[in-house]
Amino acid sequence: MKDKFCLDLDINDLTNWCNERGIPKYRASQIYGWLSSGAVTTDEMTNVPKNIRAMLEEDFIFGGFELREHLVSKLDGTEKFVYALYDGNIIETVAMRYKPGISVCVSSQAGCRMGCTFCASAKIDFGRSLTAGEILAQIAVTQKLIGERIRSVVIMGIGEPFDNYDNVLKFIKLANDPDGLGLGARHITLSTCGLVPKIEEFTREALQVNLSISLHAPNDELRKQLMPIAKAYSIDKLMKACKDYTEATKRRITFEYSLFAGVNDTPECARELVKLLKGGLYHVNLISANKVPGTFYQSASPEKVKQFRDILTSGGINATIRREMGSDIMAACGQLRRGTIEGSK
Ligand code: SF4
Repeated sequence: MKDKFCLDLDINDLTNWCNERGIPKYRASQIYGWLSSGAVTTDEMTNVPKNIRAMLEEDFIFGGFELREHLVSKLDGTEKFVYALYDGNIIETVAMRYKPGISVCVSSQAGCRMGCTFCASAKIDFGRSLTAGEILAQIAVTQKLIGERIRSVVIMGIGEPFDNYDNVLKFIKLANDPDGLGLGARHITLSTCGLVPKIEEFTREALQVNLSISLHAPNDELRKQLMPIAKAYSIDKLMKACKDYTEATKRRITFEYSLFAGVNDTPECARELVKLLKGGLYHVNLISANKVPGTFYQSASPEKVKQFRDILTSGGINATIRREMGSDIMAACGQLRRGTIEGSK
């Protein structure tokens, strides 16, 4: 039975497959080139003979990655792509235009089990974890649709990457492959809600990718209200794992902090955050939280966000205010779900 999506194949898999099928080895590189450029059907593989394309289709899943919706933000040109997978699961991918180039935010799961109370992804049924190839396809196919090279990727869409650890790691290796997409490790950012044992495991991988952690609160009491994961891992445990990571890798961690009006945007919270992060190799990204239907959270005012940032910077903490993109097409942080049709139910 076919159970491998075509973009899960790396060059070694294809070379072995060619050997088994009695196909000359150079065909493996040709096929890999097509897959890396976002070909999810064999029709596009024009330099591969029809009989070899038929054999590929016999052995692997092709065509299981279909564009269902494409929305473009009137505010900033951000584009959202809703893709249907071969088994009917739906995921979302967002492409944002920055000065240095296009950045894509990819999903790692169809749905999310983490249950953050402010997040639209937590409100849909959990489908399944994505394979490495399905995460990769979001870059390769989106790049082909946009017609421009994607410069960087953030694994910050639907799903918790560390809840799909092995596939996400395989994805990073595939994306990084110079003979494939060739995306530099430092152009890849993984964002986690803070699964401490996985942060520890990730530290041991010693990869050059960027690590970002959704913090959203400076203490356990408040964090538990926003993120159920905080009930499993206290801030003390999380900060210990972060410190070990920065010491072992010498790489900075970015903390994401969404500001919700009247919840975590007070000067007291900012001062507590200064104490928590002081002296670490850390950076804080402040985001005025986006409105998510079905939640009672309101965005913090621009004045509050600025005041919060000023307290952090005057306390010696590196902090920036992140410009949110694509909020009019539900493409901003915390807003991803399963397309506008299903999401509006
Ligand atoms: S914020 Fe991230 S980890 Fe939390 S529910 Fe949403 S997708 Fe999952």
